Amino acid sequence: MNFIADSMLGRLAKWLRALGFDTIYQSRYRPSEIQHHVAEGRIFLTRKAEHTNTYPSAIYIHSDHVGKQLAQLKAEGLLSPPPLPFTRCLRCNTLLAKADLDSVHPRVPDYVLYENASALKYCPSCGRYYWPGTHRDRMERQLHLWGLLPLGPQSPGVAGDGEG
Ligand SMILES: [Zn+2]
Repeated sequence: MNFIADSMLGRLAKWLRALGFDTIYQSRYRPSEIQHHVAEGRIFLTRKAEHTNTYPSAIYIHSDHVGKQLAQLKAEGLLSPPPLPFTRCLRCNTLLAKADLDSVHPRVPDYVLYENASALKYCPSCGRYYWPGTHRDRMERQLHLWGLLPLGPQSPGVAGDGEG
């Protein structure tokens, strides 16, 4: 399931990306861009009911609250099958790659490299680094509260040490 979210759905787009869904989001679109992505088979998510006239396959999002927005998508069966969470850049939607440990940006804290280097991921497009940590834990808990993610003791990437 691939999405394109309208300019009013930035938070929803971020959470969809966190879940692993390929989600295009821009603060502004030309109509031709939306048309192009819809023609490619993306589901257009919009807060503007009138868009469903132009794009009959568009999903009108009822709520302003991101938890309810996700609940609506889940109820409409659009969130299954679930992709792998935390595999996409939250900022630019690109699939994350394993970081090259020899050229890691100085912004990455030492403890990440020291304790959990194998879980360090990198966005090839915008250069942002991702690793399991408090921010991601908070996002996982929130997704769990929304019923979108099982809360396992070993979420992917967290158990880096001592395998084998
Ligand atoms: Zn990125």
